[in-house]
Amino acid sequence: MDQLTAQSAKIAPIAQAVIDGRQVDREEALYLLQVPPEKRYELFYWANHIRQHYFGPKISLCAIVSARTAGCPEDCRFCAQSAHYSTNIIPHFCELDELLAAARAAQELQAHSFGIVTSGRRLSDADFERLSPVFSTIAQEGKIECCASLGFLSAQQAQYLYALGVRRYNHNLETSRNYFPQIVSTHTYDDRIATIRAAQKAGLHVCCGGIIGMGESPADRVDLALALRDLDVDSVPINFLHPIPGTPMEKYPILAPMTALQTIAMFRFVLPEKQIKIAGGREKCLRDLQSWMFFAGANATMIGNYLTTKGRSAADDFQMLADLELEPNKSKAP
Ligand code: SF4
Repeated sequence: MDQLTAQSAKIAPIAQAVIDGRQVDREEALYLLQVPPEKRYELFYWANHIRQHYFGPKISLCAIVSARTAGCPEDCRFCAQSAHYSTNIIPHFCELDELLAAARAAQELQAHSFGIVTSGRRLSDADFERLSPVFSTIAQEGKIECCASLGFLSAQQAQYLYALGVRRYNHNLETSRNYFPQIVSTHTYDDRIATIRAAQKAGLHVCCGGIIGMGESPADRVDLALALRDLDVDSVPINFLHPIPGTPMEKYPILAPMTALQTIAMFRFVLPEKQIKIAGGREKCLRDLQSWMFFAGANATMIGNYLTTKGRSAADDFQMLADLELEPNKSKAP
């Protein structure tokens, strides 16, 4: 058997083992992430097979709104909202009625979850108080899963959010533990893990992923996926770097679409039963191959705009799902 045939022969048995409940190990994940170009379609076929096995035709749609934009004291090198860099993002606070209007617009878009996001290290108690009525109103209406992404959380704040009716908390690891110091210097990987643990302890579902294409190695991508599996998070947003002028990453190349799809497939093999959600940068990175994200194993995506960049039209996304004979997931469960 030549080397290529031997490599090809590995993908199907790994996929079958995943469906039988065995976990992919680090060496297998690295192999999947680096199968040669001529074997990618086979990789996508099996990633799609795993997605269909666990989720059928349902695709979850998630909408977000920025309640506080820019002015952040942290120095995440990819971020347009950091006060360390000169970007063209204007600091802004949303009024409460604007946030409620955004939640209702998300319901109309058939989003199954709606996230309120704030820039900054953490929210002050006063800002928590200010946002509380929005969370409790959305939760009481019960029409969409209520999510929050408010930076670092104490145990008490996590419990408070749960009591308000918030059911999901987003806090990304961004990259591997090894590569994290190249991305941020104002907080640590363990700071992020502490917030994820606090949210889980309070009963919140955790949405936690990262950004691909920030100069990390294939091993870093695999280590991020394995760290998320160890943390047992519920939903994994995968963003692709959209280089923002003024940030230290402004000149970074945009990831090749096939490399991005191969990364999605690796995540599906490592996290077969978890929601894999394609988020920021999908339009820039995948271009005409956006519909392939589901063939590569994703079962969720963002709909509408991102925090500081525009998404494509919701009509285009619904047409994409209809053409693929996939359906928006109406359930509020992760
Ligand atoms: S990613 Fe979040 S914490 Fe980091 S600079 Fe941007 S807003 Fe601040």
